[in-house]
Amino acid sequence: MNATATLLFVLAPLPYDIAALEPYISEQTLHYHHDKHLAAYVNKLNELIAGTRFEGMPLEQIICQSNGPIFNNAAQVSNHELYFAQLSPTPKKEPEGMLQAAIEECYGGVEALKEKMTAEALSLFGSGWVWLAADDKGKLYIISKQNAGTPLTEGLTPLLAIDVWEHAYYIDHRNARADGVRSLWEVLDWSVVSERYNNR
Ligand code: MN
Repeated sequence: MNATATLLFVLAPLPYDIAALEPYISEQTLHYHHDKHLAAYVNKLNELIAGTRFEGMPLEQIICQSNGPIFNNAAQVSNHELYFAQLSPTPKKEPEGMLQAAIEECYGGVEALKEKMTAEALSLFGSGWVWLAADDKGKLYIISKQNAGTPLTEGLTPLLAIDVWEHAYYIDHRNARADGVRSLWEVLDWSVVSERYNNR
C-alpha cells in the first residue's frame, strides 16, 4: 500500500440513492453535481496539495489557511459535502429543539427564514452560496458568499447551504434559479441542520 494514499481526500458517497430525490432533484442533476463536479474538486484538491504543507491537513484547516486554487477546491469539497448530506428523500420538514427556538427568536419562524434565504439566493449575482450559519454562542447568520465562499473563514459553523451555481439547477430548471431553490426546500432535512446546530 502506498503510504501517501491514506492522505488523499476521497469522494464522499451520497447518503441516499442517486434517484431518491426525484422529482425535486433529478438523477441526472445528481450524477453531474456529485459524480462529476464534486469528484473534480476532490481530484483537483489532491493534485494541488501533493507535496505542499497542506498535504495531510484536515480539510477545515486547509480552508482557513489557504487562498487561490487550493482554497477554491478545498472549500468546494467542504461546501458540497455539507450540501449533499443535508438532503433526504424523507426529510424532517421543520427544525427541532434549540435550532427551532433560535430561528423563532432571530427570524420569527422557519417560513420567514426560508423567504429571507430564498431572496438572498435570487439576488446573489453569479456563482456562490447562501448559508445559514451559527457562532459559538448560538446566534444565527444568513450569509451570501461568491464562488466557493464558506462561513468557516469567519469562524462560524455552517448549518445549511444553498448552492446557487448554475450546475446545481440548470439541468432541471434551466435558468429558473427560483425553482431550483424551491425544490431544495422540499428535500432539505431539518433534522440534519438541527443536529449541526447542536454540535457546533
Ligand atoms: Mn455545486
